[in-house]
Amino acid sequence: MTDTPNNTEQTRFSGHLDKMRVSPGNPVEYFAILNDQRIPLNAWLGRQITLSWSGTITCCACGQKTNKSFNQGYCYRCFTRLAECDACIMSPEKCHFHLGTCRDPEWGERVCFNDHIVYLANSSGLKVGITRMKNMPSRWLDQGAGQALPIVRTASRMLAGKIEDILRRDIADRTNWRAMLRDDMLSLDLISERDRLREHFRDELDALALESGPAGFTWLLHEKERTFTYPVTQYPDKVVSHNMDKTPEVSGRLMGIKGQYLMLDTGVINLRKYTSYDVTLTLG
Ligand SMILES: [Zn+2]
Repeated sequence: MTDTPNNTEQTRFSGHLDKMRVSPGNPVEYFAILNDQRIPLNAWLGRQITLSWSGTITCCACGQKTNKSFNQGYCYRCFTRLAECDACIMSPEKCHFHLGTCRDPEWGERVCFNDHIVYLANSSGLKVGITRMKNMPSRWLDQGAGQALPIVRTASRMLAGKIEDILRRDIADRTNWRAMLRDDMLSLDLISERDRLREHFRDELDALALESGPAGFTWLLHEKERTFTYPVTQYPDKVVSHNMDKTPEVSGRLMGIKGQYLMLDTGVINLRKYTSYDVTLTLG
């Protein structure tokens, strides 16, 4: 295996797909993950790659075969039982730990009662999001954000979710992936946006801050904006997506990588959607 492909080499890897890993850099560096293999992808820009799915999906939690993937890589049983698959992970303001109904209180204590960040980002326009401290900056890179600014630190996931819930009345909380994969992104002034939102929702945010105490809720007014560039040689004119469930073999020339998407000259593919799929990746 080598990072510098030549014209004759063909490289083939097999295993269960996991989301791509990213390393900060200019542009950011991407690695495909198949089982415990970490395959550098930036060097393959401009070259042919093929992904083919064997038809098998193996749950990323319990290792059982599953016909369908739930919540990006879980079997149905794990999806309905694991704390990390609960609806409150997508909607943290609905945290029900205090009711004694957390699916796994130990997991909840470790993950949700931990420092979180509310951030503004520009992925397909202005959006708000939350992440655990330790997931910066990969969270932003996974969303294909060009800019990001942490704005508040909280002592729990639920409180970060409540702040997000207020801010999303005024701005988006999702990435429009089609827009994210086009190269017409305008630069935003995230610091002015933060100040505007802080003013706009002052009463509600002050009430939350008061309720949670100074250790629970901290404005991050000295944070600087982060900017990211992605390894893209050419953005698609028209965004067409591949679906491995319908067409198990996907092939094309790699034109770019952004978020969790590979941009091929034949269409784009969201690799995260195929977490736990048993695939063969052929480079070259
Ligand atoms: Zn499972």
